Amino acid sequence: MDDRYGALHLFIDGEWLGAGGRQTEDVINPATGEAIGTLPHATPGDLDRAAAAAGAAFASWRRVPAFERAQILRKAAQLLRERADLIGTRMTLEQGKPFAEARLEALISADIFDYTADEGRRTYGRIIPARVPGMRWMVTREPVGPVAAFTPWNFPCVIPARKISAALATGCTMVIKPSEETPASVLEIARALQDAGLPAGVLNVVYGVPAEVSAHLIAAEPIRKITFTGSTGVGQQLAVLAAKAGVKRATMELGGHAPVMVFEDADIDAAVQAMVGAKFRNAGQICIAPTRFYLHDSVHDRFVEGFAAAAAKIRMGDGMDPASTMGPLANNRRVAAMEALVADAVDHGAGLRLGGNPGGNRGYFFEPTVLTDVPANARIMNEEPFGPVAVTARFSTLDEVIEQANRLPFGLASYAFTQDTRIASALADRVEAGMLGINNVAINMPETPFGGVKQSGYGSEGGSEGMDAYLVTKTVSQS
Ligand code: NAD
Repeated sequence: MDDRYGALHLFIDGEWLGAGGRQTEDVINPATGEAIGTLPHATPGDLDRAAAAAGAAFASWRRVPAFERAQILRKAAQLLRERADLIGTRMTLEQGKPFAEARLEALISADIFDYTADEGRRTYGRIIPARVPGMRWMVTREPVGPVAAFTPWNFPCVIPARKISAALATGCTMVIKPSEETPASVLEIARALQDAGLPAGVLNVVYGVPAEVSAHLIAAEPIRKITFTGSTGVGQQLAVLAAKAGVKRATMELGGHAPVMVFEDADIDAAVQAMVGAKFRNAGQICIAPTRFYLHDSVHDRFVEGFAAAAAKIRMGDGMDPASTMGPLANNRRVAAMEALVADAVDHGAGLRLGGNPGGNRGYFFEPTVLTDVPANARIMNEEPFGPVAVTARFSTLDEVIEQANRLPFGLASYAFTQDTRIASALADRVEAGMLGINNVAINMPETPFGGVKQSGYGSEGGSEGMDAYLVTKTVSQS
């Protein structure tokens, strides 16, 4: 156990609950493979209590003026900023990312709370001219109700922050089950909200066996909506449960497999710099990580040379060491997945330009890896690697690269580098993705909607669109 990590709890109806006879599981530091904390699992009774608390709190929270809700959320944002060192430390210990990235994640979460708090004050309705004199047609927007949320381990603060802030700003309440592998960070969000004056029951945090908790909560009578971020396979299962439990609404932020299209007229140095940063941040465990690098024939070798040279300078190590620029993978499943995907690509004839191996003598490390000329039938060209592996292929025409970019059933992020405005416009029109970054990677900000198409899911988070997920529309005809 690690003194820097702090005790873990469930947070139900304003109370912090410890193990107290409940089942527990160890939380592992992925840089060392050692246990750092003990996480209590919610009993079925705890889950019922959490859902009931969210249901009871909804009746009053929805009546709190949006202005006052925003004040609480903004106060919580300020507390997250003040506590960024503590949150960053706990996040690095449980997730592995370098402390600077973890601390920044706490600060970005605060920005998300600020932005969303104010967006909650702008959930405007409409007045429609009625057909009959003296009649008034009003369209109002109301909170959907108590929400069950499920979040993964790659961004332990930012992903919960998006869901919690939008739900609470619109007047919804929530029971959230974050990942059991990274439980401490989100508990600090709950603590900041409680310290900022959030009434008991508005937010509840539970942990347990994921499939059991999600089945229980989705079926719980007070829950009106679910929101999930994670793999497409689990998303499909939860969407079915939500439909069967009473056609409950759902938002799904699922996997991606982002194409990067580098054209012959691109600023290659700028593209390399942007892509090395985006590819290896969080050791590649990001659903919008650039993955398939489609490089124009004429620039392929130059891009690969620059990219591999920059990637070779990455210093892999324990995220608490200030010299580390890339931490371990979050769990040993990812290391095994990287080994299998790299071996399969090499078997299919890919060139191994950099890395390709687990690293270190403890923890779950995998080297920054570059595979070149990877054939389309290699597994890694079709399955989300979710790790520090970049793969390249060549193209010669615009139509060909757009066809390749759109080839997979995913459509989350995509990137392109070109100075030609006609190419940029064609990409904006024809690439099947929820987000497209042209000459930059600024596709994931509190102000901008984030979400996918095809099997990458449905619904947006962030931006004014992010509020829609938590609102229902009512038409009132009054005379
Ligand atoms: P996984 O698919 O089992 O789990 C993904 C996440 O969903 C985890 O946080 C897990 O706790 C949760 N989960 C799993 N089953 C659940 C259930 N029945 N109910 C509720 N939550 C459930 O596998 P994994 O090994 O954790 O990750 C593997 C893949 O998941 C990755 O390769 C990646 O493709 C995807 N993933 C995506 C994101 C994202 O941000 N979109 C985040 C993490 C993982």
